[in-house]
Amino acid sequence: MSDFGLIINGERVATAESFDVINPATEELVAKCPKANAAHVDLAVAAARQAFTTWSQVSDEERKAAIHRIGDILEEHGAELAGMVTEEQGKPLVGFAGLGAQFEVGGAVAWCRATAELELPVKIVQDDETHRIELHRKPLGVVCSITPWNWPLLIAIWHVIPAIRSGNTVVIKPSPYTPLSTLRFVELANQVLPAGVLNIVTGADDLGPLLTAHKDIDKIVFTGSTATGKKVMQSASGNLKRLTLELGGNDAGIVLPDVDVDAVAPVIFATAFINSGQTCAALKRLYVHEDIYEAMCAALKGIADNASVGNGMDEGIDFGPVQNRPQLNIVLALAQDAENKGGRFLTGGVAAKGPGYFYPLTLVADVSEGCRLVDEEPFGPILPIIKYSDVDEVIRRANDNPSGLGGSIWSSDIARAAQLANRLECGSVWINNHAAVQPNVPFGGVKQSGFGVEFAAEGLAEYTSIQSVFIPK
Ligand code: NDP
Repeated sequence: MSDFGLIINGERVATAESFDVINPATEELVAKCPKANAAHVDLAVAAARQAFTTWSQVSDEERKAAIHRIGDILEEHGAELAGMVTEEQGKPLVGFAGLGAQFEVGGAVAWCRATAELELPVKIVQDDETHRIELHRKPLGVVCSITPWNWPLLIAIWHVIPAIRSGNTVVIKPSPYTPLSTLRFVELANQVLPAGVLNIVTGADDLGPLLTAHKDIDKIVFTGSTATGKKVMQSASGNLKRLTLELGGNDAGIVLPDVDVDAVAPVIFATAFINSGQTCAALKRLYVHEDIYEAMCAALKGIADNASVGNGMDEGIDFGPVQNRPQLNIVLALAQDAENKGGRFLTGGVAAKGPGYFYPLTLVADVSEGCRLVDEEPFGPILPIIKYSDVDEVIRRANDNPSGLGGSIWSSDIARAAQLANRLECGSVWINNHAAVQPNVPFGGVKQSGFGVEFAAEGLAEYTSIQSVFIPK
């Protein structure tokens, strides 16, 4: 028996089997989670299909109002949801620079409100004596959302809200590591939405492939690893599902010699270690000019040495644990490789003894390409600091990576930084910042970081197809 239930067609559904959700800070049980099977998947998809016939016809104003109401309910339940996120995901309630679980819930509310207000108006492409030709945006049908464990609630909102705003219905499957805040969000949203518009299935690793191959799903929005994204794409081909793939990143940040090191170091630190580095668009490869290299290393070490790592439920904790054991093992393997290749550990580097999947904030200097920590995404609290001497060469090195999610240039010469940023091969570039996203700006990757965008009208449009309407005069 589970403490939670699936939500299918507006009803809470109990399952015969359940699985454990573990607190990564303590390795203790947080809750039993319902384990859905193939029959539950079919029921959820059928409910969404049925609801689509009416939800797709509901007026824009009604859908907008429903989403505002969901935002209100999430805000009313903010403390409960933030506690759930901390318990299942590990990030502190407040955290370093205020980027913890409360920030995640605040972001969820903000994205509801902003997405509710987005519009996809009819576009008139021709209006003359012979024809009026209009482009209408039509919802696609049943959307399947598959979410990861790093920002579980916020990413669920990023997928679900634009899907239903544009008239689709949804079946969401959260990561089995962090299903609880999403189960609660779906339960709360069902107080507002008609039955079947938003359904959730949780379970073991067989559920994802069942959904991605399901013949009655029209689109998949997936956030996760590049390797899994490729599998999703393959399995979606059966009925030509539309795809939005937001995959991993290995974002380069390039620091020019003209920066004020003490001014930019805290921002670099916060945007690299946000959520203990478990953020797709965190700064993951820091290239620093040789003239300021040691000064930057010292400044970042000073910040890391003063930051606390611990159970996110405890007051004053800046950073939580790595979310799960396999991810901690990846971090350990990359750290070992960096050590083998002569990396200079400025701080950290030794995993704490359990309980909890803790790894200290770790800065590794004197590493370069050819070291796994530089070439691969660690997705944990460890940052390589790479020395460079020539700007053209460092742009080439930054681009010489399969990922293309984000990138940044750090300089006091904003105009020059903007020119250099333009040469980075990635979906978002920042100047003197990194990893900042907002609901009115499209966000997405290029190269093996995926395709399609989320947020803004461009992101909303991805949940629709164009119908061209030819009206004779
Ligand atoms: P995955 O990509 O494996 O998992 C993400 C989601 O996809 C989960 O809900 C998972 O569920 C599901 N999934 C896994 N396999 C399939 C499949 N064949 N078909 C459909 N759905 C599937 O990420 P991991 O959690 O394993 O993390 C691995 C790496 O991914 C990390 O090291 C990190 O580099 C990257 N990552 C990137 C994120 C981002 O924001 N871009 C977020 C999280 C991780 P289930 O576990 O049940 O299979």
